[in-house]
Amino acid sequence: EYSKKTMKNIKILIVDDEESVRDAYRSVFKQMNGRSLVEQELKSDADALFGVQSAGCDESVDRFQVVLHTAEEGEEGIKVVKESIKDGFPFSVAFIDMRMPGGMDGLETAHHILAIDSRIELVFVTAYSDYTLEEIGRFIGKSRFFILKKPFDVQEIMQMAETLALRWETERERELLEYEKEQFIRNMSHEVRQPIHIISNACNALLSHQPSSTQRDKFINYINQETQRLMRLLENLKDINQMDSSNDQQRFEKVNVDLLCRKVVELLSADAEKKGINLILQSEVETNCVLADTDKLMQVLVNLTVNAIKYTENGSIRLYLLEVDGSVEIAVEDTGCGITPEEQDKIFKRFYRCRSTSSLTRGYGLGLSISQEIVRRFGSEIKVSSSPGKGSRFSFKMQSIPCV
Ligand code: ADP
Repeated sequence: EYSKKTMKNIKILIVDDEESVRDAYRSVFKQMNGRSLVEQELKSDADALFGVQSAGCDESVDRFQVVLHTAEEGEEGIKVVKESIKDGFPFSVAFIDMRMPGGMDGLETAHHILAIDSRIELVFVTAYSDYTLEEIGRFIGKSRFFILKKPFDVQEIMQMAETLALRWETERERELLEYEKEQFIRNMSHEVRQPIHIISNACNALLSHQPSSTQRDKFINYINQETQRLMRLLENLKDINQMDSSNDQQRFEKVNVDLLCRKVVELLSADAEKKGINLILQSEVETNCVLADTDKLMQVLVNLTVNAIKYTENGSIRLYLLEVDGSVEIAVEDTGCGITPEEQDKIFKRFYRCRSTSSLTRGYGLGLSISQEIVRRFGSEIKVSSSPGKGSRFSFKMQSIPCV
């Protein structure tokens, strides 16, 4: 999976007191730059300029864009590592000379660097055997490092940089997944706690004293409502789980979006009317069929329309079908509370709920992330435009096809 991705910048740090050695590194990485990882060993002509990706690269293959920093002494190396953390663009690999007369030696430099950035992959490059492997490991407090003998071999440096940069990237991806998993579990337990708390309180109230029949109905209603809520959460989780699994099969069939939107209006107009809101379908397309999974497309339209009703207090909601460049644009427009520009990107993230609405309405913040994922699988994307206090418009385009 990993090798299918395009690799962008990788940052490499060189700490060596000798100018000629730093130059040698520069020419090594100049050769690596702009080459695909696969091609790299096969091609020998180094026509790619340092810092510039070679023209006509195929974007689908992995590619190195090495950002090289050279430092002539330990202190300078430590300083750039510190800055890289501040900039949010840390180094993947550091090649450090062991003996640097006049200043810190390589070991001390590495020790300080690791204190700032423990993730960096370390390679000590040395002509001598000043320290044993155990001594180095003990001193820097890390067992994962490499030693290369000077004078170095160009291929060896390249392969080392490539392998370690890939390992560094894989580790970051693993950390990110781990972080997302933790967040997900934290959010889940938060979402489950509230309904369970309400159900448990209602049960206690029913059991502990003799409630009047009105009170009993009220508590049973609570239990019913919250159980439904938990069921909805389970449904959402099932959707997420299914979409995350690699064998989720996407069905494509001919769907008449005009008919589908009519169904949505039929299904939800009673809910809109309860709030005194008009739910209208405005179709301006002649060709109104698309290729999609009917149930999934229905789920998206229902999600967007339910949201529009939920976040609108007065005015109207329109389902639009418009023809745009051979595609049909499906839009749900409301005159509701709107979404601030800062939050417009975030609402598609799992569990995200806007600050202004989270205390007024109940929800899990999963509907939009599920809808976006479904629409992405149709090869499109839901876009939002909104103005706080005035309303929102959620839309996506799909290639239209003749219905007959
Ligand atoms: P939920 O509605 O369960 O909170 P969603 O993922 O459907 O979860 O939506 C995420 C958030 O986006 C909502 O909590 C709400 O703050 C905001 N939002 C979604 N649709 C609208 C809308 N039509 N108008 C205003 N805010 C909206």
